[in-house]
Amino acid sequence: MENKDMIHTDLAIIGAGMAGMAAGMFAANRGISAVVAGGAGGFEYASGLLDLWGLTHPGKGYCKDPWQGLAQISESWPLHPLLKIPESDIGKAFDELTDGLNQNGLAYTGLPRGNSRIITALGTAKPTYRLPLTMAHNATALEEKPPTLLLDFHGLREFRAKFVQQVLASTWPDINIAAIAFPQMAMRSELFTPLMAQAMETEQVQDQFVAAVKPQLKGEQFLGVPAILGINRPEEILKRLEELLEIKLFEIPTSPVSVSGIRLKETFKKVLAGTCVTRLLDQRVLRAAHEPGKGFILETGTQSGTATTRIQAKNCLLATGRFLSKGLISDRKGVQESVFNLPVTQPTDRQQWHTSSYFDPHGHAINQAGLATDEKFRPLGKDNCPAHENLYAAGSILAGQDWMRTRSGSGLSIATAFHAIEQIAQNLAKTSG
Ligand SMILES: Cc1cc2nc3c(=O)[nH]c(=O)nc-3n(C[C@H](O)[C@H](O)[C@H](O)COP(=O)(O)OP(=O)(O)OC[C@H]3O[C@@H](n4cnc5c(N)ncnc54)[C@H](O)[C@@H]3O)c2cc1C
Repeated sequence: MENKDMIHTDLAIIGAGMAGMAAGMFAANRGISAVVAGGAGGFEYASGLLDLWGLTHPGKGYCKDPWQGLAQISESWPLHPLLKIPESDIGKAFDELTDGLNQNGLAYTGLPRGNSRIITALGTAKPTYRLPLTMAHNATALEEKPPTLLLDFHGLREFRAKFVQQVLASTWPDINIAAIAFPQMAMRSELFTPLMAQAMETEQVQDQFVAAVKPQLKGEQFLGVPAILGINRPEEILKRLEELLEIKLFEIPTSPVSVSGIRLKETFKKVLAGTCVTRLLDQRVLRAAHEPGKGFILETGTQSGTATTRIQAKNCLLATGRFLSKGLISDRKGVQESVFNLPVTQPTDRQQWHTSSYFDPHGHAINQAGLATDEKFRPLGKDNCPAHENLYAAGSILAGQDWMRTRSGSGLSIATAFHAIEQIAQNLAKTSG
């Protein structure tokens, strides 16, 4: 194994999904020297929406107030990580994160304390706490149900306006649909939203788009398109197209690979550029150990196992996600944590991972498996004490939550990353002072 570099840092953040990148931003804002090392995963799959809490109770409609939902989680989720964080800090975490994204060209919006609901590509209404500004009119249109045109593109399989129209028909009859060829891509047999979004960044393509859309408008008040309004400056593109088309335009999030997820990833890279946080993106931590007197020694590299960089860090934050991202791995014996081999809280045997009904409203026990921590988000070792004094964890790897079912994915990652970074900042202040 060849070691080319050695980086000495106050904090190593392992994982570059929502939790890892949010932690990187919070570290940068506090002047903590850090390295974020992480595989590509995470963002490409995500919708770009920032959920806080959206669990709907059968028959009770959608969760309008995520804060009210959170105030009640101790009843059903006694071990939930968000119970360790004061409400005011969760709010601060969201504000700091969305301010940072906004300053780097990706604006988010939402109700002061409530969830908005937006139309998805499946025609369902999804509650979310903070949504990209390019989706703001999506929420208004769904609420008011005015005459709206949804646009299809020849060759695009990720999004079907006809399907959305059919699902919403009984509650929203004033949806019209039309299909156009996407500018300069008429000869392609298949289109992909990231490609369209990239093309949309030029005014020439925007103008051709406008020329193709105008004849389709029949007095509708809103125009809905899949998320294709550019990668880098979507609000500018939205504004220009709205002016040219004289209509309220909105995006609908699509399935992976999602443009709104890619925007988040690219914006986080901008946020960290030129700060005290070094990015080793698309690298995985291949080996990690804690050495007394030295702190954490990590080796990063590619999937094939070629080590390229060594990191020596005083503190370490584990933000490696769950099974999809390989932060947790499973075999016939159970679930393991993949970097430090930390104990994983999990059902005692595999028979208990799932209940017999896939759609069980109480969810499946395996989805709450993960790392148990102390109040500072330090993972516990076998003796129920922190495994290492300066090792922290954040995001979906934590035990006691089921972010997918409770619609709290980004909120969980953002708030736990914030809390962990606050602890690390205090630690560093103590040791340096
Ligand atoms: C399909 C999908 C849709 C989603 N939609 C929403 C939504 O609508 N609203 C919402 O709020 N959230 C949504 N999310 C959730 C959200 O995007 C995050 O996935 C979630 O917050 C968990 O983030 P995380 O950082 O803990 O984990 P992940 O996002 O899984 O990131 C973990 C990262 O760690 C890296 N990693 C793993 N092992 C190592 C290692 N050894 N070394 C270095 N790096 C490593 C992985 O490559 C990955 O980049 C969605 C997620 C998915 C998958």
